[in-house]
Parts: sequence; C-alpha cells; structure tokens
Amino acid sequence: MGNYNNVDRKSIVSQKGFSVKKRFSQNFLLDENIITNIIAGSDIDENTGVIEIGPGLGALTKQILEKAKQTLLYEIDRDLIPHLEAFFKDSKNWTLLNKDVLKADINEDILGYFKEVNRIVVISNLPYHITTPIIMKFLEEVENIDSLVLMMQLEVGKRLTSKPNTKDYNALSVIIQHQTDAKYLFKVPRTVFHPRPNVDSAVVRLDIKKDIKNSEYQDFYRFVHNCFLQRRKTLVNNLNFAYNFPKDDIKMILVELGLDPLARSESLELEDFLRVYDLFNKDLRG
Ligand code: SAM
Repeated sequence: MGNYNNVDRKSIVSQKGFSVKKRFSQNFLLDENIITNIIAGSDIDENTGVIEIGPGLGALTKQILEKAKQTLLYEIDRDLIPHLEAFFKDSKNWTLLNKDVLKADINEDILGYFKEVNRIVVISNLPYHITTPIIMKFLEEVENIDSLVLMMQLEVGKRLTSKPNTKDYNALSVIIQHQTDAKYLFKVPRTVFHPRPNVDSAVVRLDIKKDIKNSEYQDFYRFVHNCFLQRRKTLVNNLNFAYNFPKDDIKMILVELGLDPLARSESLELEDFLRVYDLFNKDLRG
C-alpha cells in the first residue's frame, strides 16, 4: 500500500510550502500505538464499511483500509488530497470526497458508495472546533450508522460519557446517552500530535441505540437543556424559570416520582429525566 509510513507524515508536515491549517483544526497524529488502539476499539472487519472524517495525512486511514471492506473519506482541505491519493494509490477499497462533512449529504453518499457491508462505523480524529456539530449531525440526520469511534478534547469526551453526580455531567451527557451507549475508551496525551494542541484528548465510542428516533425527542432534549440552565439551581427553579409553571406543582411531580423536591439536575439519571418529562407533560402542559 503506497510508500506510506510514519516518517512520511512527519516530513510532509515539516516541508516548506506545506502549511498546517489551524482553521481546520489540523493536529496530525504521530503515534502508531494509539492508532492501533483506536482501530481495535472500533471492531471493524472485512465486512464493515467505514466513514472517516478528516483523514489528514492518513494516520488512521492506513489501518482502516487494511481492515475494512470499503471506506468513505471526507476531507475539506484540498491541499491534502494529492498526498492521500498518492499514499493509498495501490488500495482500491476507498473513495475520497473533498467536502465539508457538515455540508455533505451523507445519506446520499452512503447509498451511492457502500455495497454489501454488514455495518457502517464512523472513525475520526475530529476537527475539535466542530466536535459537537459533527456528532449531532450523525445522530440527527444520518441513517444506518452502527457506531462512532471518535477522538475529541478530553473535556468533551468526559462530558459525553459521564454519570450523575460528577462535575462533567450535563445536558449533553444525558442527550448523548439517551441515543447511544457511550463508552470512554482511553486518554491521549497532547504530546502525540503535530502540531501539539493545548489540551489532552480522549477516544470515545458511541454505539447507536437503533430504537431511538432522534426526531421524536427534540422536545425532550430541549427539556433536558432547560433542566440544566443554571447548574447551581435546583431542578424546580430551572423548570420554573424555563416554563413558568408554579414551583409547588413541579415539586409535586418530583415527590410523586420518589425524587427529592430539592434535587439538582446533576443528580438525576437518564431514566429520571424521562419520567419527570412524562409527568410534566401530562400534569402541567397537557
Ligand atoms: N486524521 C488525521 C490524523 O489523525 O492525523 C487528521 C486529524 S485533524 C485533527 C482533523 C482533520 O479534519 C484535518 O485533516 C482537517 O483538514 C479535517 N477537517 C476539518 N474540518 C473538516 C470538515 N468540515 N469536513 C471534513 N474534514 C475536515
């Protein structure tokens, strides 16, 4: 597969005329062990279709192409296209789209490209400035995805996977865990990237729950956001502020569900939010 190796990537990045683009959050991964661990964490095999967002200089791409049946690559930076084409010229099972992943019609691309794959997995060392929009796009709009294995800022990785009563638990944790089984895989130190970012990273795996239709829960997700409006306030105060229902009525709902009427949102499990939302709709909004 091409004359690709670790040294190629480093030397390309340090070449005159090649400029690393901050606006595309380009931090290239240099450590082969980390790459191997990311691929191992994604459980891809010869029947899997893979979508890689931002292949960059192909750090993850090489191992993906060796394992997967077919791979669809989205890379926004047109200066990287010739390098990727040269690296992987001997491999046939991939296609490279010079597109902004946030603007692409991914369902159409999937239909047009993947043939007879058992499952589709998204793998990415994400461009950090658009981590949440990319994840939300895949959860809200893209069909037929099984899992996403994503490297992101450590802080965001902790949020997506954190449990109640921890400092990282917030609306995003609840919303993501409603739609996916979210697992924190491992931490990645900032030292294994070029250029070196200011923060450490984490690899997270999101296995999509097939029975949850995102479009049917938009109002619930707004409700969860409202529950966390002000972290130091109680759930009752946040809901009173957001919806203007009397505090005593909201307290009654919590008591009916066996919850502490003075609880803060950070102490509620996903199931609690669903139960509070149900009664809130029936008793106060219905
Ligand atoms: N996968 C490479 C690696 O691990 O070394 C590069 C990762 S780098 C953090 C992010 C990559 O995403 C860059 O190659 C960047 O050009 C690309 N990118 C940034 N914004 C993008 C977008 N909207 N659509 C597609 N690719 C994008």
